[in-house]
Amino acid sequence: MREQMKLIRRELGEDDAVSDADHYLESLSKLKADKEVKEKLKKEIERFRTMASNNSEAAVARTYIETLLEMPWNKVSKDKKDINEAERILNEDHYGLEKVKERILEFLAVRAWNEKGDSPILCLVGPPGTGKTSIAKSVARALGKEYVRISLGGVRDEAEIRGHRRTYVGAMPGRIAAGLKNAGVKNPLMLLDEIDKVSSDYKGDTSSALLEVLDSEQNSKFRDHYIELPLDLSQVLFIATANSVQDMPRPLLDRMEIIEVTSYTENEKLHIAKEHLIEKQRKKHGLTKKQLSFSDKALEKLIHSYTREAGVRSLERKIGEICRKAVRELMKKKTESIKITESNLKKYLGKELYVFDVANETDEVGIVRGLAWTSVGGDTLQIEVNVMPGKGDVKLTGKLGDVMKESAQAGISYIRSVAEKYQLAEDYFEKHDIHIHIPEGAVPKDGPSAGITMATAILSAVTGKPVRADVAMTGEITLRGRVLPIGGLKEKLLAAKMANIKTVLVPERNRRDIAEISQEILRGLEIVYVDTMEQVLAKAMR
Ligand code: ADP
Repeated sequence: MREQMKLIRRELGEDDAVSDADHYLESLSKLKADKEVKEKLKKEIERFRTMASNNSEAAVARTYIETLLEMPWNKVSKDKKDINEAERILNEDHYGLEKVKERILEFLAVRAWNEKGDSPILCLVGPPGTGKTSIAKSVARALGKEYVRISLGGVRDEAEIRGHRRTYVGAMPGRIAAGLKNAGVKNPLMLLDEIDKVSSDYKGDTSSALLEVLDSEQNSKFRDHYIELPLDLSQVLFIATANSVQDMPRPLLDRMEIIEVTSYTENEKLHIAKEHLIEKQRKKHGLTKKQLSFSDKALEKLIHSYTREAGVRSLERKIGEICRKAVRELMKKKTESIKITESNLKKYLGKELYVFDVANETDEVGIVRGLAWTSVGGDTLQIEVNVMPGKGDVKLTGKLGDVMKESAQAGISYIRSVAEKYQLAEDYFEKHDIHIHIPEGAVPKDGPSAGITMATAILSAVTGKPVRADVAMTGEITLRGRVLPIGGLKEKLLAAKMANIKTVLVPERNRRDIAEISQEILRGLEIVYVDTMEQVLAKAMR
């Protein structure tokens, strides 16, 4: 009867399904998988055989069978275990990043030493363009692992992680299962990029789906809604990246080990450009060293005046831009080789994009330089205060956030409490208005770390005593005039250095952070530790 059915189907032009089913059965016999998987597949294939090939249900069944056949059920790749080789590869791909590499190598050593052990999930945290993604790729290369990148930025539907049920039209496996399928083995390195950007809304909780993926107790039986069979993720090596841990859900954070990747100094950028980026871009544009070369001075200027970032991404883009222009020039046959120097840089990139806000020339009343930390690096910010006769109003302008406004208020209260010491009349604050302004109004600013800066500026304005122009400061203030510690010190010091500041006032409790900052940044800067507002004022005022 089967033979007859086959004949009839052939005559009806429906024999595709039959031959495809046979084809699938053949693939199934070669598939390395558990019994449960094989049985389920077999059932699906038989069901598919009975369907007419032009029916839409058959199309759904077909993709399902093909997806299952392509999943790496029991396929594994063999890891390289040579730690010295891994170290060589990490050093070859990246300049600097000593601490990060050290931590990663320890991690790899433990994995190789104790295969059964539970390894933590690493999360690289730092500003954009600092090499997080590319270091994860290097780890995959060092281990000889397949590499898949799953971009989580903006994922807010749980189904994107866990897959859609097959009853929906256009259902697909989730990103984790799809990543595994692309890797082709069950033990790839999976990069969860921008894990801090997942969000939750009415469509379910994405971060709890991720928790299940990352939990070593549960992930050997991860259920994707589309696949419907348990997937074993226990051999996947997960590495996550994030820009900041501030907004990350607590439970997710607890499951990971944070490795901080910080901004680069100008000198580090110079080395990265010389040793990696230029060669990379030259290769991309088919140029040789003879055809296009850069002088050190040109690179320094490129870094200083054409880019302003924590990482090296726009530096790489600028080098690419120069390569493009060079190719065009070479094609015009005007010249055989091009050397980029400080003087001809302008010809290729146009006028300078950034001029750094440098320290004021003279000491002024009511103007103090603060240091700020943003997700793309550090910056200096000038705080201006004016007092005028009025009726005790306080005005704050310059797009300040709530926290900043509050610390301005705290600063004023502190100054009022010590007004007597500075020979201010008792009713001074009732008869004067204070206006605090932070220029560059288009940039939103927030955070508590400008507290002592604002207090100093206010005091300078009300007493008429000038503030030293070569001093910058950062620190939170309490009502009683104590100075509290702040974050992002490395970036802030870098910014201060760039602005030609000589002396930086830093909270006493940040002293131990200074120990971790490289000499290159500290050279030429006088760091003064302060604990109280009195110390700040003693140092900042003439
Ligand atoms: P992130 O993931 O941190 O945003 P990427 O990994 O995409 O940054 O890095 C951007 C570019 O900069 C890549 O081309 C990378 O190779 C390069 N890069 C970053 N840091 C270094 C470094 N220390 N050495 C060499 N290249 C680097």
